[in-house]
Amino acid sequence: MSFLSIDRVTKQFGIVQVIKGVSIEARKGEFIVFVGPSGCGKSTLLRMIAGLEETSGGTIAIDGEDVTHADPARRHIAMVFQSYALFPHLNVFDNIAFGMQIKKVPRAEIRSRVEEAARILRIEPLLDRKPRQLSGGQRQRAAIGRAIVRKPKIFLFDEPLSNLDAELRTRMRVEIARLHQAIGATMIYVTHDQVEAMTLADRIVVLRNGLVEQTGSPSELYDRPRNLFVAGFLGSPR
Ligand code: ADP
Ligand code: MG
Repeated sequence: MSFLSIDRVTKQFGIVQVIKGVSIEARKGEFIVFVGPSGCGKSTLLRMIAGLEETSGGTIAIDGEDVTHADPARRHIAMVFQSYALFPHLNVFDNIAFGMQIKKVPRAEIRSRVEEAARILRIEPLLDRKPRQLSGGQRQRAAIGRAIVRKPKIFLFDEPLSNLDAELRTRMRVEIARLHQAIGATMIYVTHDQVEAMTLADRIVVLRNGLVEQTGSPSELYDRPRNLFVAGFLGSPR
């Protein structure tokens, strides 16, 4: 039984159809990676899953519930972007706590959720710092902390590491794998980086021009790419 079910979803901007009928199923706890060239529709798909963009056709169901036209708030999804957009005047604790403070979650509950997220992300010593006192990787962790405390059913990551230098990207990739292990949530992760795709994914979805080109485990796609396009993306020997 799939936890996230995307069924023949389309998206039209004006007269241009950018998503042309995409179907993807994800099991609970699965780590799915979307890869594909710039402009193929990866971000648009994530935004439709999150409810930040209306679908033009097809259906999206989460945990058995049709959410195709549901408010973002009702989908229990958290999205992490590459620009971490932390509030510069708030310390890390308050940045992570912000959404809960707005919703008037009791203070003790806020504290325990922030501390738990900080523990998972190993940023406990940084909770008093302002964003400008953090490295790029630490800021990215604080941004992920904001997602964790919401206890989402699904995490969506849109190229979260692409602003980081190569060394930090490697370290954060390991952190994200650890995060997935620690909380076991369903994750959908968009990347340009072949190493990220191959090492993080339970399953890779290769997108091309608004369609799914091929889907499979990293080793399936690496060993049996359907065509040169897929092979080129995953660095298969061809
Ligand atoms: P990716 O994330 O794979 O780079 P996007 O999902 O951002 O691709 O974009 C897919 C296509 O949809 C691109 O051709 C882009 O120009 C177009 N597009 C995205 N958002 C809009 C929009 N709000 N209005 C019109 N066209 C858009
Ligand atoms: Mg994008």
